[in-house]
Amino acid sequence: MELRCVDCGETYPPVLMYRCKACGGILETVGDDDTLRVSLGESTTPLLRARRIEAALPGFSGEIWLKDETRNPSGSFKDRLVASAMGRALSLGIRKVVCASSGNAGAATAAYAARAGIPAVIIVPANTPLGKVTQIAAYGAILLLVEGHYSKSYDLALALAERHGFANLTTTFINPYAVAGLTAVGTELVVQLGGAPSHVLVPTGSGPLVKGVWQGMVDAGATTRLIAVQAEGCAPIVQAFEAGAEEVTAWGMPQTIASGISDPLIGYERDGAYTLKLVRESGGRAIAVGDEELRAAMRLLARSEGIYAEPTGASPIAALPRLLSDGELPPGSRVVCMVTGHGFKDGKAYQEMPVRTHKVEDPADIAAVAGLCEAALKAV
Ligand SMILES: [Zn+2]
Repeated sequence: MELRCVDCGETYPPVLMYRCKACGGILETVGDDDTLRVSLGESTTPLLRARRIEAALPGFSGEIWLKDETRNPSGSFKDRLVASAMGRALSLGIRKVVCASSGNAGAATAAYAARAGIPAVIIVPANTPLGKVTQIAAYGAILLLVEGHYSKSYDLALALAERHGFANLTTTFINPYAVAGLTAVGTELVVQLGGAPSHVLVPTGSGPLVKGVWQGMVDAGATTRLIAVQAEGCAPIVQAFEAGAEEVTAWGMPQTIASGISDPLIGYERDGAYTLKLVRESGGRAIAVGDEELRAAMRLLARSEGIYAEPTGASPIAALPRLLSDGELPPGSRVVCMVTGHGFKDGKAYQEMPVRTHKVEDPADIAAVAGLCEAALKAV
């Protein structure tokens, strides 16, 4: 295996390196990686047909599938990146890791560091959802809270890694071994579907998962249209896509309930430009969804398919109605939605939704409780 720059093609031996020395470009791994991964028993995640979501899209005649990445050991697809990058760090003799995160990668890094018996420093924005912060702390990581947007945490992780010899497991495009861990998502999809999906909808911050699905398709000899889904309150890639630009301009302060894709890309805009290039090459599109669309999608996913996802994880479902009305999902489409993170990580968005909860005054009064249930069932 070696490292290769996606821009200038320069190659390097497989050491810890985060950017191309020649041009500053993104590095990718080429060839087989025989490094032993750190494992928490992760395996192929379920791919589920979502017939009730199909039915909720009037005029759609095709298939919607859910790739349930909430089922990874720490509850998000980030486990795939971290299992891969942690194994490589250990094989290079590095026994301390740092990760800047909006929450999920931090939880994954903290969990796998605990499993490997090494210390981890996790850096997150101070406004990271409580569920994510609690999870990171529970695994015993050193947790640093930084005021402001995610890019500030990113810069601090970079500085710590450079100055103090940590392996940087930040899961943008910075660690090529991490990104390589996502290729399996694409190959799994082709095997599980018995062929390539027509579209894969990917919640997108900087975009390593877009690359993972793309690479997996390439390795399987397949193609798909990649749809990068961002939040309206943090959509630097969508902005560039709609402007027909090749370069991505960094965003300001993100304003969205989707913490997992709240990445303004300040200082690493090239990550966004690379993702945009893959999206365009695939014949796909970048699309932004609003918080109300996210809430509706979360509700639909939980109530009609039994999947409890955080706002980011529901963002592909939120994008479906607009893609359909824009004529992007022709009859016969086989659409995969990447459900990236578990609802346990960010219950607040659900707590704000109306629920069908009733207080039982007297559990001994069965008739009254039965009456209450009957009335509630009729109200559906
Ligand atoms: Zn280069």
